[in-house]
Amino acid sequence: MTGAGVSAESGIPTFRGEGGLWSSYDPVKVASIDNFLEDPAAYWRVSRERGPAVLAARPNPGHLALAALETAGHLVGVVTQNTDGLHQDAGSRRVIELHGSGRVVQCLDCGTREKRAEVQARLGEEMPPRCRACGGVFLKPTVVLFGEAMPMAAVEEAFALAKAADVMLVVGSSLVVYPAAHVPLKAVEAGAALIVVNAEPTPLDHLATVVIHGRSGEVLPELAEMLSAA
Ligand code: NAD
Ligand code: ZN
Repeated sequence: MTGAGVSAESGIPTFRGEGGLWSSYDPVKVASIDNFLEDPAAYWRVSRERGPAVLAARPNPGHLALAALETAGHLVGVVTQNTDGLHQDAGSRRVIELHGSGRVVQCLDCGTREKRAEVQARLGEEMPPRCRACGGVFLKPTVVLFGEAMPMAAVEEAFALAKAADVMLVVGSSLVVYPAAHVPLKAVEAGAALIVVNAEPTPLDHLATVVIHGRSGEVLPELAEMLSAA
């Protein structure tokens, strides 16, 4: 399971931790469904500033190592809290997105979907951007905003994988966001060994068999290399 930390080395800031976004924005304010519905332009103004860097980001060695572990048969899949699509870009095939995808935008009025990049491109002329099909102003990235429910199918699949796992590897997550942090807890309950790779300590470190405090872009390639030599 991965969190925002796995994409930090791709230039996408995390929410928490050093250099985290919470030092410059209050995500609960900007990224809550209530605020979005009240003022979609405010949401898109932040997106106009931050979106281009996220859309231009490329997978880093951490994402690539997870894809290689899957190809080698060591990893069943990736459960991610990220919305940036970088696991898919790196070649991971089974990616379960607990918080949706930031690459797709959906009109809350008529349901029409569009690529994020296309909506981003017209932010200069339109604020908030309008639905190409119905003219509506509630174009929302298909991410789970604060105050929204998580996608049931993804949550169920994540818990099923956790229950069946021999080993649960958690990378770049502060593990303070629930229900996402329940996923590794479920694995531990079911008897799996837990490995935590994170830049700083997490509240679940005491349950882990192995804890590595380091950068995922450095630790994961080493892990993949060791497993391929084993
Ligand atoms: P988080 O921001 O709460 O925590 C990130 C953790 O990663 C921190 O504990 C930090 O110490 C660690 N970290 C930072 N750089 C690292 C590195 N190079 N290697 C290893 N660890 C590193 O992230 P979260 O727990 O995933 O929760 C925040 C939520 O915000 C996510 O669930 C996600 O939905 C959303 N978010 C997504 C993105 C993205 O898609 N890339 C970015 C920011 C926030
Ligand atoms: Zn519409």
